[in-house]
Amino acid sequence: MSTKVTVVTGSNKGIGLAIVRALCQQHYHGDVYLTARDSGRGDEAVKSLAADGLTAKFHQLDINDEKSIVSAAAFFKKTYGGVDVLINNAGIAFKDADPAPFPVQAEVTLKTNYFATRDMLTHFLPLIKSGGRVVNVSSFVGARTLNKCSAALQQRFRSDDITEEELTGLMEQFVDLAKKGEHEKGGWANTAYGTSKTGLTVLTMIHARRLTKERPHDGILVNACCPGWVRTDMAGPKAPKSPEEGAVTPVFLALLPAGATDPHGRFVSDKEVQPW
Ligand code: NDP
Repeated sequence: MSTKVTVVTGSNKGIGLAIVRALCQQHYHGDVYLTARDSGRGDEAVKSLAADGLTAKFHQLDINDEKSIVSAAAFFKKTYGGVDVLINNAGIAFKDADPAPFPVQAEVTLKTNYFATRDMLTHFLPLIKSGGRVVNVSSFVGARTLNKCSAALQQRFRSDDITEEELTGLMEQFVDLAKKGEHEKGGWANTAYGTSKTGLTVLTMIHARRLTKERPHDGILVNACCPGWVRTDMAGPKAPKSPEEGAVTPVFLALLPAGATDPHGRFVSDKEVQPW
């Protein structure tokens, strides 16, 4: 049997590193790849795990750089014949106090959290092996943001027939309207981060439906989740959960047992499916 392999994006620190740590600690049978856009930061993180007796492998992966995605995908295809578990954890958020104007925040945030994560899925979904698991680390903020959108947008984001092309067009529309200061007039909530995570959760649901249709016998489960409010560089020291606690739900979804059929295409928090 070939070695199982897990890939975690943005895992040199924060929740991503805690996910890699938990997978290594749970004696998950297979290779766990800590990936980072910066090899130096990635190597340091691998060393910090080694100091605790844990073995993770490393591969460079900057999700904002399509060449880096293509090169990593080719490596996993050649070395392992595909990927068993993919955890799209990499993400960014501007601090509340950041002086960058909203149009810039909208473009930069959507670029990483929606468009680059979508690029990852474009290149990695075809590599996911039978029985594979895909976990997209989204946020409860995306669910809250959905409820602040116009009724027409909410209807599209909750519909079963929205396509990836339509969703991507809507995410582009948000950025374009934000540049003109017209996003709220257009029915959008006034949050770049929230909108990016609404988009990521809907994208997850679209991919789940597509896999069910196109690979019905492969038993692949694709879900979005919220890790909770977690003490990391992103969320700051006041958040109630430790990174280890934040890793619990992503790891639960990554290790759903063989033969499980549910959850699939859901938004999950504290290991429970949440309404969308
Ligand atoms: P951190 O800021 O601590 O870590 C983010 C990680 O993503 C870092 O490793 C960062 O790398 C990496 N990253 C950012 N951009 C890229 C990129 N282009 N390519 C590859 N890696 C990248 O954040 P958290 O650990 O808190 O967040 C992890 C995920 O959880 C995010 O998706 C976030 O939105 C989500 N989340 C977090 C919550 C929280 O309370 N913390 C709540 C809800 C969701 P680098 O070090 O190089 O910057």
